[in-house]
Amino acid sequence: MLVFGLCSIDYLVDNQTKILKLTRNIFGKKLFALLMEWTFFGQFMVREEEGKILEGLRKLNERGISPMLAYTAPELHGSVDGDGASNEPAKEQWYLNNFNSVLKSFHIAAKCYSFTKTRPIITTKVTFFVDHSLLVLLSSVIQQQNALLLHNNQLVDSFISKNPTWNTRSKESLKNDLIFHVELNKMIHSERYENHSPTKENEDVVKLQDAHLNLFEKLRGRMDKLCLTAQQTNLSLNFDAEQTYLQTAIEMLCIHFQRLYNECAPVVLNTYQCYLKRTGDVIENHVTLAKQDGFCFGGKIVRGAYIDEERRLAKEKQTVDPVNPTYAATTSMYQRVSEFLINQVKCQGEGRMRVIFATHNEDSVTDVLNRLREKEINMDVGDVSFAQLYGTRDFISYTLGSLGYPVSKMVHYSNPVDGLAYLSRRLTENRSGLASPEIERRLPVVELKRRLFERRKNI
Ligand SMILES: Cc1cc2nc3c(=O)[nH]c(=O)nc-3n(C[C@H](O)[C@H](O)[C@H](O)COP(=O)(O)OP(=O)(O)OC[C@H]3O[C@@H](n4cnc5c(N)ncnc54)[C@H](O)[C@@H]3O)c2cc1C
Repeated sequence: MLVFGLCSIDYLVDNQTKILKLTRNIFGKKLFALLMEWTFFGQFMVREEEGKILEGLRKLNERGISPMLAYTAPELHGSVDGDGASNEPAKEQWYLNNFNSVLKSFHIAAKCYSFTKTRPIITTKVTFFVDHSLLVLLSSVIQQQNALLLHNNQLVDSFISKNPTWNTRSKESLKNDLIFHVELNKMIHSERYENHSPTKENEDVVKLQDAHLNLFEKLRGRMDKLCLTAQQTNLSLNFDAEQTYLQTAIEMLCIHFQRLYNECAPVVLNTYQCYLKRTGDVIENHVTLAKQDGFCFGGKIVRGAYIDEERRLAKEKQTVDPVNPTYAATTSMYQRVSEFLINQVKCQGEGRMRVIFATHNEDSVTDVLNRLREKEINMDVGDVSFAQLYGTRDFISYTLGSLGYPVSKMVHYSNPVDGLAYLSRRLTENRSGLASPEIERRLPVVELKRRLFERRKNI
């Protein structure tokens, strides 16, 4: 409670770096690390040691909470916005280290099968494995080409005549396929080269240069290895949702790997942010696509973590704000999406979808449980589950777990120094996400238990 109280004091949050530095100078490195592990770090994260991670997950499992593991990458010092070429080797090493560390996390999570039957989840970020500028570029190329496909019906025909193996897919399916877009980009630009005269329609499409294509292949190879490892170790792999200027590419990468690895079970999971105006339509589109193309839908449903940045960027660029205008509109989106997905889980039958409602909001949890009861969904199968962050809103997770509902805690792990830097960023970006001592103190366990228990009896 002391930690939550401190996190809610603006002065401490604004001056956290100075305060942490001062505390380290006073106590010395070793004592400081211990102090942090007993307080801030220990509250929200677990030390990057296999034994400690498994001990933490086992303790949660004893309270009915399933494993969800997230490796936390250290900060990339001075390289992200640095002077380009000279930093490239350092960046590449960082992506490679992250890739190897996430790969290792599968082997740790697979050991959870010694104490749990629920399929553990690994959560990670695509920006751990490639420069975010590539994802920005891919996102804008996809948007440009999809706009072109709306008006130019011959483009797909011309593409298929040159690439007959794509013949079996619908136009909607192609529009949502990142590999198709990369190949289409090559065709558009080679035609321009051959004809020496770009048509008016395609002259604006940005060209993916060889360097971009090489980076893309590297990313594709890394993600493929992670998805394959998830399948081989019988785990689920969830990719976080990030800022909208990256999301078009991230979503389509996930769809690409779902097509490859979700044929029999939902191994790869996308993430959908309900604070975005477009999310309801995107989810409906992806579920339709999954049914048409014969793969299992998997998605983590969140409200969204980058609201201030999204709003600031829309204002600066004078573009339409992608975020819902009010909190109530975000909550209605959460309700629309949960109703739609729970109906789909019912229609598609057991084992074909995996949906995780990741929220700290008690009303959303009870609303979802209500819908599950109405549709008589068998909660023991695990097609639908809940998730909260480690150290946050424990009363919700523990209550759900004690009543036998499927629930996970997302456990971030790292070394204490990198972990503190990560927590400090999260606290600055999203204060309400971590710090709400009123809610944590309220602990309405009895009331929550009563509400949920009523529903458990009826499911
Ligand atoms: C297990 C887990 C995994 C997560 N993974 C991701 C992820 O991959 N990507 C990601 O972006 N986030 C992720 N989050 C964070 C999540 O998106 C939310 O920021 C956080 O959980 C708070 O939302 P809530 O539903 O828990 O609670 P609430 O407190 O009910 O909702 C707060 C949220 O409502 C929205 N909101 C607030 N004010 C307004 C407003 N004026 N207008 C419109 N909307 C508003 C914002 O999204 C804000 O974060 C994750 C959270 C959890 C628990």
